Amino acid sequence: MSKLEIKDLHIAIGEKEIVKGLTLTINSGEVHAIMGPNGTGKSTLVKAIAGHPDYTITSGDVLLDGESVLVMEPDERSRSGIFLAFQYPSEIPGVSIANFLRAAQQARMGEDEELDASAYYKRLYGKMDLLKIDRKFTSRSVNEGFSGGEKKRCEILQMAMLEPKFALMDETDSGLDIDALQIVAEGVNAMRNDSFGALMITHYQRLLDYIVPEHVHVMYDGRIVKSGDKSLAIELEAKGYEWVSKELATA
Ligand code: ADP
Ligand code: MG
Repeated sequence: MSKLEIKDLHIAIGEKEIVKGLTLTINSGEVHAIMGPNGTGKSTLVKAIAGHPDYTITSGDVLLDGESVLVMEPDERSRSGIFLAFQYPSEIPGVSIANFLRAAQQARMGEDEELDASAYYKRLYGKMDLLKIDRKFTSRSVNEGFSGGEKKRCEILQMAMLEPKFALMDETDSGLDIDALQIVAEGVNAMRNDSFGALMITHYQRLLDYIVPEHVHVMYDGRIVKSGDKSLAIELEAKGYEWVSKELATA
């Protein structure tokens, strides 16, 4: 069992505070969804947790099994079990998916350990089959010339290969058509077990029909303003985010 604790986190970009005191605990075995309007700080939250240098954590803490990850470099955070699937994945020309994932895997092993190539490819192909990614993709450069949906599937492939303790998925559903959404959801659902937890950021309730979260949170202006179960996502879809902001105004 693992635990990811976000404690009264404040995040700034330059002088501007974007995340304004956010507290959330995710236990392994749980999927949490964060929904909220554009510009509310959802991507800022997950990128700062992963260690993106543009974001300054001004106060609060993020603990993985009791240890602060904020003192760690991004690669250490990754090796300790935190994975970020980007909203806008970068293209890495000249680095094939196969080599990229192999290097990431090798980086997780001891210096005197050598990744077994045939076992690696067997595992890679197994995950690719699960996510219905054509094998010819292994020799293509990471995300280069990929469609929006292909990039998102590639993010999930990375996640499936690295088997993190906690995955932060930033609008993985955007750019996916309904078939691709179902395939990605199957891939994520196949990873769900007692030693894996996830924080899924989504704009639409639709994803949550396929990856059913234990908890749903509404983020508004840098804070979580409402939490509930899956029914909250359905209510939000029907009433819109304005409903939350109006409720806050009258509270
Ligand atoms: P969301 O993911 O909820 O749509 P973001 O976290 O992307 O919101 O953005 C929150 C706010 O921070 C927005 O006003 C956005 O313009 C700003 N912002 C995000 N990233 C950067 C950055 N790297 N540099 C400057 N401003 C940024
Ligand atoms: Mg975003």
